[in-house]
Amino acid sequence: MDGQASPTKSRPATSDIAFARHPEFYFTDGSIVIIVERTAFRVHQSILARHSDVFAALWDVPQPRKTDLYDGCPKVELQGDSLNDFVDVMKVLYDVFYFDKIKHDTNLSSLITFIAGILRISTKYSMTDIRNKCISIIQDKFPSTLKGCDDVLGRGVQYVPSEIVRIIPLARETNVPKVLPWAFYLCTHIPVDEILANTVLEWRDKALCLAGKERLWEMQKTLTHTFLLDFKQCSTCTTGCQMRLPRNLKLNDIESIRDSPHPLQEYTDWKSLMLCVKCQQTFESQHKDGREKVWQMLPSIFHLGTWDDICKDQSA
Ligand SMILES: [Zn+2]
Repeated sequence: MDGQASPTKSRPATSDIAFARHPEFYFTDGSIVIIVERTAFRVHQSILARHSDVFAALWDVPQPRKTDLYDGCPKVELQGDSLNDFVDVMKVLYDVFYFDKIKHDTNLSSLITFIAGILRISTKYSMTDIRNKCISIIQDKFPSTLKGCDDVLGRGVQYVPSEIVRIIPLARETNVPKVLPWAFYLCTHIPVDEILANTVLEWRDKALCLAGKERLWEMQKTLTHTFLLDFKQCSTCTTGCQMRLPRNLKLNDIESIRDSPHPLQEYTDWKSLMLCVKCQQTFESQHKDGREKVWQMLPSIFHLGTWDDICKDQSA
């Protein structure tokens, strides 16, 4: 897996005095000491090894010298990890109900905050089960199938695009590309000025959002919602639907759709259009096929390859 860790055994010169003992995760019966950002965690080697291939391999070597001990335990200093991220993972390891803190109605911004550190550490140290748990929680809100997309739309999951934008760099950093197409799709709803001023996204991702907004609008116009935006009665229409179709959409409505294109939104209010049976069947079928096409093309719109590529990348 990319970005796998290589914790380093501490050098003897390191001064033990400089470490602060973590108030919650410094157990008197702990068997190893992990140092993160000058904070010492005295935890259980067997528990860490049980969850992490990287830590398991680390201790599969001869006993350390005396100088690598802290408080009588072997000491390992982690490099480049955030203290808060590591504390979150310790909570997962030592509190069996920790993931239950995420409630069904936890808002997405809080959910991303909750999961981010755990996902980073579990990815880096090859904690497969914990990483998979994080991914399943995120994928419940960021689907990688059209069925999943219909499910989140049907459940009325509330997305505030400017708040969930953090999922994009997180998914890139931790190799969870399956969530990216839907995340990008949602982020095309951020107003252009806000995208440009955004401090979370890289410029390349900003460009993908802006270009994606245009592509989705084109698809909404030509593939999924043509019957609303550019209606032409079907060739077998016998009752003149062209003449009877109410022209509800004003320029402002069209501008608003263009600003927040949503071609995957399922249209269900067919009766209100009062079309003939032939026209309604034709456009329902076009709408259904169009949504499937948009979903298939979603990754390529954001330069992510195909769904197959994405699935291979994530499982690699
Ligand atoms: Zn008709």
